[in-house]
Amino acid sequence: MNNTVVGALKSRLRAAAAQVSSFPRVWNLIWQSAKGWTIAWVSLLLLLGTAPLATVALTKRLVDSLVAATHTAVTWQNTRPAVIAGVLIAIVAIATELLQGLLDWVRTAQSEMIQDHIATLVHKQSIRVDLAFYESPEYFDCLYRARDEAASRPAALLDNLGGLLQSSVTLLGLSGLILTYGISLVASMILGMLPAIVVVVRYNWLNHDWWHSTTEQRRWIQYYDQKLTSPAAAAELRLLGLGPRFQRSWQSLRHKLRAQKLALVRKQNLARIGAALLSLGAAALALAWMSWRTLRGNGTLGDVILFYQALMGSQSLVRGMTGNLGQVYNNSLFLSSLFEFLDLRPAVVDRQPSLSAPRRLSDAIRFENVTFGYPGSERLALRRFDLTIPANSVVAIVGPNGAGKSTLLKLLARFYDPLDGKVTVDGVDLRDIALEDLRRMISVLFQMPVTYDASAAENIAVGDLSRDSDPAAVREAALNAGAHDVICRLPQGYETPLGKSFAMGNELSAGEWQRVAMARAFLRRSPVILLDEPTSFMDSWAEAEWFDRLRSLASGRTAVVITHRFTIAMRADLIHVMHEGQVIQSGSHPELLAAGGLYAESWRQQMELTPEANSFAGV
Ligand code: ATP
Repeated sequence: MNNTVVGALKSRLRAAAAQVSSFPRVWNLIWQSAKGWTIAWVSLLLLLGTAPLATVALTKRLVDSLVAATHTAVTWQNTRPAVIAGVLIAIVAIATELLQGLLDWVRTAQSEMIQDHIATLVHKQSIRVDLAFYESPEYFDCLYRARDEAASRPAALLDNLGGLLQSSVTLLGLSGLILTYGISLVASMILGMLPAIVVVVRYNWLNHDWWHSTTEQRRWIQYYDQKLTSPAAAAELRLLGLGPRFQRSWQSLRHKLRAQKLALVRKQNLARIGAALLSLGAAALALAWMSWRTLRGNGTLGDVILFYQALMGSQSLVRGMTGNLGQVYNNSLFLSSLFEFLDLRPAVVDRQPSLSAPRRLSDAIRFENVTFGYPGSERLALRRFDLTIPANSVVAIVGPNGAGKSTLLKLLARFYDPLDGKVTVDGVDLRDIALEDLRRMISVLFQMPVTYDASAAENIAVGDLSRDSDPAAVREAALNAGAHDVICRLPQGYETPLGKSFAMGNELSAGEWQRVAMARAFLRRSPVILLDEPTSFMDSWAEAEWFDRLRSLASGRTAVVITHRFTIAMRADLIHVMHEGQVIQSGSHPELLAAGGLYAESWRQQMELTPEANSFAGV
């Protein structure tokens, strides 16, 4: 063997050892999910493992009794041992069937519990990890594997572990039986099995290598599949005729992977047949020796049959066990994705001790010398950034695309922490405020409104779970957001199911959804309201009416409105103009118009483009 082969073998053995070290964790997962079921499962497997031993021993007794009876008169006395052995064999067979049925039931219950336990762990972790997690392809991939593979793998793993345990019990017993005829027979039996073990181990490694090296292709396959079947892309796919093109790409990748997989399975089966022939050769030799010994009067016909059964039984057991062992290894490899996901630790956490958030702002929210870049991105979204949002005022933030406006909201809600500098509320660093408390302090309307497949009332009520779906409060929030009239037009009013994913759902327009989402944000009586493009889907008439309502709603609170619409911005108490991660101008609308610069220029351009807005703006 040259150095490369030895090196490769060593690295494989190291990887295998690392995998084996995760077995206790896998076992712990199984045990924590279903303790009682696991005890029942192990007990049944042990019982079932002994059944073949009883059958082999009873068969020897039956054959020997029959041989003895053939030399005597047919009386009950002479045939009784054979009859008893036959009846016992039948009892063992029936008991095996019953226990097998029971085992199937126990295993199903157990694997369902494990699946649910894992899903619960995944759900818990999904809402715990940082928002940044969802923006990294590697992490997202990790979640995908954890969710998709971990659902089926535990059941497969249970089957493998169960098979191993049951077979080990039987194999130990059979080896004991063969051992009574000489240690050399056990040795030849083991030697005969070695080729099968080598084949299984080698092809497990090859399979895993193949699976690993084709990850990217499989992700592309999934991507095309998603594009072809998801509602989000359905309209554009039809309009642009993209469907057949995506289908072809999907088919070509599948064709390639299928061919590779089939080639691997073909080679594996040829090797397996070769190994099986070698094992059979070894078994034939051992059996010939046993028969010769019997012919010379050193054994009974029962001995030959016992030996034959034990030999064949143990050969097929070892084949099954090596397969199971390989599968245990493979399945636990998949489960390592789950553990990788579960081990992720959020970076945005509470500092100890943490303070409670102010009930009402008395001074201001301040960004002080904040520098921030998104994880994995080399570009800074904010660079040494300073901004003041005075308490109890309505502040508008305007600026071109990519200026960093939405980033401000994400830092305020502490979805991320600044790389440098700090964000303060009434002088307290956000990182010193308990995270849950901080998030209760703010209401946010995101740029893309989130839609829930639930009734209109529930879609709003989830905005503040502490209010227990108070219908009067839901209605008031809907009125403030301009959603009330939209909802009243629906067939069952506030009880109308929204969304199209489930039966009886009613779809809303983008602007209507935005109003519902805004009502959700308004339901929460928090001291800070953050609105990201709240009127992007609204017509300018609705906008005018909406702003008046926001004004009265925001009285005594602090509201930040990110907007591209100057007709909204001009009404704010203070306007900050952002450009490339910096505030370049601040002031009231008249001040900014008088000062000239980006704001005044953009204002004039927008007024020329949308003259109808002039009437609302009063210019
Ligand atoms: P728009 O008006 O288009 O909504 P914006 O002013 O709100 O833009 P931000 O969304 O704050 O801009 O983005 C600021 C910068 O940060 C942009 O250059 C953008 O490309 C980058 N950015 C935003 N989100 C992410 C992200 N999740 N990962 C990496 N970079 C991001």
